[in-house]
Formats: sequence, structure tokens, C-alpha cells
Amino acid sequence: MTLSKQRDKSEYILEVENVKKYFPIKKGVFSKQVGAVKAVDDVSFKLRKGETLGIVGESGCGKSTMARLIIRLLDVTEGLIKLDGKELTSLPKDELRATRRDIQMVFQDPFASLNPRWTVERTLLEPMRVYNIGTKSERKEKVADLLNKVGLDPSYAKRHPHEFSGGQRQRIGIARALVLNPKVIIADEPVSALDISVQAQVINLMQDLQEQYNLTYMFITHDLSVCEHISDRVAVMYLGKIVELASKDQLFYNPRHPYTLALISAAPEVNAVQKKERIVLKGDVPSPANPPKGCAFHTRCPNCMDICKVETPTLNEKEPGQFVACHLF
Ligand code: SF4
Repeated sequence: MTLSKQRDKSEYILEVENVKKYFPIKKGVFSKQVGAVKAVDDVSFKLRKGETLGIVGESGCGKSTMARLIIRLLDVTEGLIKLDGKELTSLPKDELRATRRDIQMVFQDPFASLNPRWTVERTLLEPMRVYNIGTKSERKEKVADLLNKVGLDPSYAKRHPHEFSGGQRQRIGIARALVLNPKVIIADEPVSALDISVQAQVINLMQDLQEQYNLTYMFITHDLSVCEHISDRVAVMYLGKIVELASKDQLFYNPRHPYTLALISAAPEVNAVQKKERIVLKGDVPSPANPPKGCAFHTRCPNCMDICKVETPTLNEKEPGQFVACHLF
């Protein structure tokens, strides 16, 4: 994919170039590799400082694997990931540890991601202790300050996770992500486990914090209305590939890719002017272990042509800033 027309390099905090993650499928007593699950297949995008890039797609499209590759919980099969110009994919372990503090994650299930035996204070102190940041009293001050910033009373610091509601726990998760002053925060479905009324509060909090700290977010969600609310740009993924990457307005008001159109048409709460009638996709998402030849979406696409069954479309810029992988354009 070519993103040649994107602006000056220095403004990008995160660059993902042609990243692939194939999980081998092994069989037999000798564990011979007989295939591979192509969880992420040649994905490229860039994040500007201070922006929010929404990543949407059905479950199994590779969006969470992409997050795990960026924070190096998984190694890439191929490709490069750069943070502030520094290549992460080949960093030795000791350097990786220092860089890891610059990318933090907010997880879907705040309860599962917090240690149930630790108080909130310990949860927030621990990363600063590990990275040797500040004195004891400075760290405690920072904990109180962060709790304030995420809308929790600092007196709650001695409580354990089970003493909080789901929304409060996610606020603690956000405070923990902020404690090391990261350059990028990857939020993986951060509100999908919360009640609707609490979702808006947490999203508004994340937006306020972004303004305050000039944070850069990669926001993974399957919920298009959440994505429309928080994103500056949006990448739509299908079977491990980005099929459309555009500004929020381009994507929601002038979607190009048939899959994007189908997703938007099926989301009644999204305010897209283009939306006319619901497009019902045929069948299920094919297995990433055996993706269809040509365009991976061709088995479900209402606009499928002969060429789609044999030739994989590449992601090209159709309008300034709007990239689409489809033979229709
Ligand atoms: Fe549909 Fe063909 Fe475009 Fe794929 S390339 S989305 S099958 S029209």
C-alpha cells in the first residue's frame, strides 16, 4: 500500500508498514506446518500526533492482533512498526522495555485487566516503581492527581477493584495507561463491556484527557457509532486487511468500499447521510486460515465482478486522504 501523499514524516508518531502476522497451522506427530492463519495481512497506516485513528471491523478481522503486534505482545511475521521514528520490530529486549512505556493499552474488560489483590494505589504506583520514576512521595502525589483527572476521589486509592463499578474500573484502567506519560494509547474495545449510559462518560473522559495531554489514540471497536464519535480517521478491516482508510467525514458520509457501506447500513445509530437501505451481507466471514482468492470480500460482496475472484485489489488513494482497496474504483 502506498501512503505517499500523507504529510511530513515528523508529524507521525506511529508508523505501521506492510505488517503481516501469520500463525502457523501444524499437524501430525512431527508438527509439520500445513498452512497459516493470516490474522494480519500486509497492513500499513500512520498515526499523527494527537489524533484518534478508529479501527473497525467484525470480530476476527485482525484488529486486536494488530494492537498486540504494536505493543510487541506478538512478533510480526513481516513488516515494520516505528514509534517516533524508532523501529520497534527488531529492538533487543532491554531497549524494548524502555520503549514499552511509550505505548500503553486500555483493555476491554477492566476487571480482568486489574490485579484483584492490589489496591488502586498499588496498581498505579507499580509502573512508576518499575521504571524508577520520581521519589516515593512524588509517585503518591501523581496517583492522587491521576485519580482526580479520571474523575475518581483520591481517597479511593486504598480500595480494591471489586469495590468499584464497571465504569469506575475502566477509569482506573485509563489512569494506569496514563501513569507513564505514553506517546500512544491503544484502546481495545474500551467501552463495549460497559452499560450504554457509562460508555458516553468514559468516551468523553478519554476525549478530555486527549486534549489535556495531547494524547494519540488507536481506538479499536466494532461499534460504528462509538467510532464515529471519537475518531479523526478510520480504518476498516476485513479478514486481516485494511479495505478502506479515510477521514471520519469521508468514511461516514461518502463511504466507498462495499464492506464499509454494508457496515454503515447495518448501524441504525450512525448519522450517515448516504445511508439509504440496509445492505444484508450473504454468509459468514470466511476463515483467515483459508481466505478466498482475489478480493477476500468477494464471496459476500453485492458488487462482485469476475476480476474480483482472481486479483487482490490494493489499497490506493481514490480521493485525497481516502484509501480504498476495491476494483470498482
Ligand atoms: Fe466487491 Fe470486487 Fe470491490 Fe471486492 S474488489 S469489494 S468483490 S467490488
